[in-house]
Amino acid sequence: IKGQYGKYFATYDDELRGKLLREQTITEGMEAALAQEQFVVYLQPKYSIKDGGLAGAEALVRWNHPQWGFQHPGEFIPLFERNGFITRLDQYVWEKVCAMLREWEEKGYEPLPVSVNVSRADVYQADLPDILIHLIQKYKLPPSRLHLEITESAYTENPGQIIATVNRLRELGFVIEMDDFGSGYSSLNMLNKMPLDILKLDMNFIQSETAKPADQGILRFIMDLARWMNLSVVAEGVETKTQLERLREIGGDYVQGYYFARPMPKAEFEVLLLEAAKA
Ligand code: C2E
Ligand code: CA
Ligand code: CA
Ligand code: CA
Repeated sequence: IKGQYGKYFATYDDELRGKLLREQTITEGMEAALAQEQFVVYLQPKYSIKDGGLAGAEALVRWNHPQWGFQHPGEFIPLFERNGFITRLDQYVWEKVCAMLREWEEKGYEPLPVSVNVSRADVYQADLPDILIHLIQKYKLPPSRLHLEITESAYTENPGQIIATVNRLRELGFVIEMDDFGSGYSSLNMLNKMPLDILKLDMNFIQSETAKPADQGILRFIMDLARWMNLSVVAEGVETKTQLERLREIGGDYVQGYYFARPMPKAEFEVLLLEAAKA
């Protein structure tokens, strides 16, 4: 038994050492990665439920790592949120998106909005509105072309401060989407005080395969509430036809999910933009 425990702890140590080493490598490499453009912005299309037309996209970052290859955000964003690098990376992503929007504007493409993720750390930076307005001016864009996705859980920490910041962003013309809505943090009472334009439903609502009457009831209730509050609703994580049909019955405005398209490189999304213009 003693020997077995020894083995167990050795494995555990190895695992922990591996994780720490990996994190150290990421931390040492992140600045260079930014400078060398190893971070790549992918776009996942959003569609209108009513007519099926292309309605915009969400920008999702990937890391094309020289040793490890293509890395998904789950592999590095949590660390960047802890070590503070997320604010640098997010600003990089926002600028890339603004540059794309400018390029599409010049090419005469459909003027669709792109959503960017704004992490909790960004939102508590006092100069967030200045940073964003600077970008919008630099790339000569209407602020409404940039949608800001702020995760529901960010609102709980210091509601007073975030409400003030988000109010300011809306005054400036940015469109605010509450991401992961219903994942468990916001109370309905708080929703009432939150400045926002679009509710982005947490994937669990869409993906719960059970489709119990109660689940459907909650979804219906959220849709009604959104209508009352004059908010649009985006359903993300739609993977199957059944999920889409269930959603169609209940309502909502936009959909995003693997059933329609996975996040894709800019060039691929541009093909969709051109097709949308012809339709
Ligand atoms: P999120 O903002 O909730 O983004 C949605 C995630 O769901 C994305 O994962 C997307 O690829 C994935 N997804 C889309 N459709 C489906 C579907 O039908 N089924 C399933 N199972 N998943 C779907 P991704 O790209 O791996 O990003 C994960 C998270 O990382 C994001 O969750 C977001 O919180 C964060 N993230 C990604 N890019 C950025 C960024 O540039 N800045 C910040 N701060 N966070 C980012
Ligand atoms: Ca998001
Ligand atoms: Ca999220
Ligand atoms: Ca989400």
